[in-house]
Amino acid sequence: MLRNDQLDAWDRESFLHPSTHWGQHARGESPNAIITGGSGSFIEDRDGKRLLDAFAGLYCVNVGYGRTQIAEAIAKQAHELAYYHSYVGHGTEASVTLAHMVLERAPEHMSKVYFGLGGSDANETNVKLLWYCNNILGRPKKKRIISRWRGYHGSGLVSGSLTGLDPFHRAFDLPLSQVLHTTAPYYFRREKPEQSEAQFSAQCAADLEALIEREGADTIAAFIAEPVLGTGGIVPPPKGYWEAIQPVLEKHDIWLIADEVVTGFGRLGTMFGSEHYGLKPDIITIAKGLTSAYAPLSGSIVSDKVFAVLEQGTDTMGPIGHGWTYSAHPIGAAAGVANLKLIDELGLVENAGTVGAHLRAALAEAAGGHPQVGDVRGEGMLAAVELVADRDARRFFDPAGATAGKVVAAMRERGVIARAMPQGDIIGFAPPLSLSREEAETVAGVTAEALKAVLG
Ligand code: PLP
Repeated sequence: MLRNDQLDAWDRESFLHPSTHWGQHARGESPNAIITGGSGSFIEDRDGKRLLDAFAGLYCVNVGYGRTQIAEAIAKQAHELAYYHSYVGHGTEASVTLAHMVLERAPEHMSKVYFGLGGSDANETNVKLLWYCNNILGRPKKKRIISRWRGYHGSGLVSGSLTGLDPFHRAFDLPLSQVLHTTAPYYFRREKPEQSEAQFSAQCAADLEALIEREGADTIAAFIAEPVLGTGGIVPPPKGYWEAIQPVLEKHDIWLIADEVVTGFGRLGTMFGSEHYGLKPDIITIAKGLTSAYAPLSGSIVSDKVFAVLEQGTDTMGPIGHGWTYSAHPIGAAAGVANLKLIDELGLVENAGTVGAHLRAALAEAAGGHPQVGDVRGEGMLAAVELVADRDARRFFDPAGATAGKVVAAMRERGVIARAMPQGDIIGFAPPLSLSREEAETVAGVTAEALKAVLG
């Protein structure tokens, strides 16, 4: 085994990590971590420190760490057939079975699934399919996509444009001109404090409609949204939001892409967020929870309506000119099949609902009274604690102070991993769906201790 100092040197010299200050990392000015193992809700680093991972990696290790059923399914597939492509009608038992299992769980009007590798490439696929469909339908101008500020949809060229967070655009010449952004459904940060949730939802729908009318509905193909804003701050929609938004989309024949990369496969206490909020999407993006990140795999689930157009398209133009070498990779598919079975066997969708509610209640009780806590919110096994400089005046901290980052660092010292969300002082929680009530209480207790240590 390599010594820690050797690995540290190689890490600094060689490795460009995502979402990392590359200069500081290379110069050894920021911490690094080498993770060696995991079991249940815990990970372990090379120094033997055990940490309760209340963010499940990047909200993806939904079944928890160290599940031998999934590891064995991966090993079996690797021994039998590590790879074959899925082009021109090829597949494996795992990929065909997984497609069937995904459709069994998806809303009834969904028709078929295309498998990719990660959430970003799945959203690239979605946009290509939309453009293709609107060409087939003879409406070549109807191509732009509306996303929300604070939405997160990946960090590719199109998916990074769909993302509505400044750090993912700045100096990258994004967003591309085909993407427009509308109001974030972020009630806590509403501009007019006197608005009720329902009034704020009506305003979000009116803002969306005004944008559509300004740009012309004949130029807008789709609206993309996460059922609950994730990386933008873990923000459940205000009351009546989806009920107000969906009729606007229907009126202007704008398709809905539900980005369920975080919410798919149980995180909200229901199999899909679409089911949770009564959405009728035309396309659903899936990734993370599809395999619980035991292997990379994503998917684009298309509805009956979308598939009818794709069928017509290939009938007139021939095979679809789209595919990745690793689409429906057998190892990812085998992991997916084992993972979805495990979610059912362990009742994790239900556990996400009940223990998630317990986690939020415990956070509210332990931390909600702190004067710098402005909001404790969440849905299912997703929670956030938002920090404010002044609760009554609704004044936020200066971002340069990285207040949430300091609290999260203090939590880590105390053995719990949470995530300082990238925009705003928001402490995010998205533990494995298998979290126990006792673990939820530990997370809440450590949050309160860290708040006290950093903010008094
Ligand atoms: N969509 C959502 C809602 C996400 O949260 C993410 C990642 O966090 C993505 C898409 C991008 O997925 P990936 O990082 O696998 O490309």
